[in-house]
Amino acid sequence: MASSAMDHQLEVINSLRITPLDDDDEGQDEVEEIEIDEDDEEEEEDEEGVTLGFVEKPKNPRSLLRHLFPSKAGGVPAWLDPVDLPPESARTCGFCGDPLQFLLQIYAPISEKESTFHRTFFVFMCPSMACLLRDQHEQWKHGVDKPHRSVKVFRCQLPRSNPFYSSEPPKYDGTDKPLSTGAVLCSWCGTWKGEKVCGSCRKARYCSEKHQLMHWRSGHKNDCRQIFISSHSSVLDHGNGREKLPAIEKVACRTLWREHEIAIEDESTYESNMSDDNGCGTSIVPANNKKDETFQSVLNKFEANADKKKWASFQERIARAPEQVLRYCRDLTAKPLWPLLIGRPSKEDIPKCNYCKGPLCYEFQIMPQLLYYFDVKNEPDSLDWATIVVFTCLNSCEASLAYKEEFAWVQLYPSTGTL
Ligand SMILES: [Zn+2]
Ligand SMILES: [Zn+2]
Ligand SMILES: [Zn+2]
Ligand SMILES: [Zn+2]
Repeated sequence: MASSAMDHQLEVINSLRITPLDDDDEGQDEVEEIEIDEDDEEEEEDEEGVTLGFVEKPKNPRSLLRHLFPSKAGGVPAWLDPVDLPPESARTCGFCGDPLQFLLQIYAPISEKESTFHRTFFVFMCPSMACLLRDQHEQWKHGVDKPHRSVKVFRCQLPRSNPFYSSEPPKYDGTDKPLSTGAVLCSWCGTWKGEKVCGSCRKARYCSEKHQLMHWRSGHKNDCRQIFISSHSSVLDHGNGREKLPAIEKVACRTLWREHEIAIEDESTYESNMSDDNGCGTSIVPANNKKDETFQSVLNKFEANADKKKWASFQERIARAPEQVLRYCRDLTAKPLWPLLIGRPSKEDIPKCNYCKGPLCYEFQIMPQLLYYFDVKNEPDSLDWATIVVFTCLNSCEASLAYKEEFAWVQLYPSTGTL
C-alpha cells in the first residue's frame, strides 16, 4: 500500500521483462534464469510487508458510510461508485441463482496512479456450503468464458476528482457528506440495485424476484396494502387521527452477516511464537475453540508428512495474531499463505485479467476466522473454507464498467464434504 512498495513492485516487474527471442541467442538462457518456480512447496511466504485485518465492532456506525472509504465486513456494502452497480448477471450465485451476500470490502488505494486514488475491493459469496463445494470444481476449469462462481470479487476505483466525493479528505467530524445520492437499493437485502419495483405499492424496490418474495412473506404483504391505500386516497386530514405509514426499511433482511469495521495492523508488530494474548490490543475476543477443533480434525485427516508440515507451519504463522481475518500484501513477490498443499492453483490456473488481458497477482486472502465473528455455526454443512485468495489485475486497469471482476481462489479443508 505504501509508495515504496509500489516502486519496488515496478522494479521487480522491469527486472522480469523477458528479452524477445529474436534479440540474440542469449535470450533463451535468460528465460531459464528468470523462471519463477511457484510450485516450490518449501518456499515460505515473505516475512515482511504483510498487513493484517481484524474485525471490531464499529465505534460509530456512521464511520462505515461510503464517503468515509471504510474497510468493513458484513452488513451491506458501502459502494464506492454508488450509481453504476454490478448488473444482475454479475451479482448472483452461479449455482443456485440467488443474489450473493456481502462478505467484506477493503479500501486499498494506489496513490501513485491518478485513476486509483480511491480503490476498493468488494467480496461477495453465496452463504450455501453446497454452492461453495460446486465452486471448487468450477475454479479448476480452464478457458471457460463465463465460469460459474459462488464467490465474486469486484474492484472499483475513482480518481481524486470524481462526481461522488469531495477531492478533500474527510474530516471525520460528522460534517462529511457524499456529493450525490446513489442508486436506489433493494428493500430486502440493501445490497444490490433495486431495479424491480413492487407492482402494487410502487414503492418497494428489489434486486430480484427472490428478494421480492422474501420481503412479501416477511411482512410487506400487509405493509404494501397500507402504502397503496394511503398513496391513492385523497388526504382528508382529521386532526391527529391519521395512522402512521409503514416505513419501507432500508434493509428488511435479518440474515445479513453482522456488520464489523476492519482495522489493520502490520504483521511485523506481532512477535513470533507469542504464547499469550497480551499483544493483541485490537481485540477482546475470547479464545476461539472452533479453531482448535478444526486444527485437530484437519491434522487427523493428513497421512502425508508434507501436509502435516504445511499445516503446522501455517498454524504457527497465524498464531502470531490468531484473530486475523485478512492478510494483505500488494507486492509482486508476495505469496499467499496456504494452509494446505492440496487445492492450490498452479500458475496456469490463474487466468488473465478479464479487461486488459494482463497478469493477475496475489493481493489479499480471507481467513475463515471471519465466520466466527459472523456467528456461522460449526456444523457439517455450515459455510467454511481454509482460505480465499484474491488475485487482482497487476495494472489495476481501467474499463468501461465501474465494478471489475477479479479472481478468487477458494481452498477448502479436506474434511469438508465430498460432491
Ligand atoms: Zn448459491
Ligand atoms: Zn435484494
Ligand atoms: Zn409493495
Ligand atoms: Zn486489467
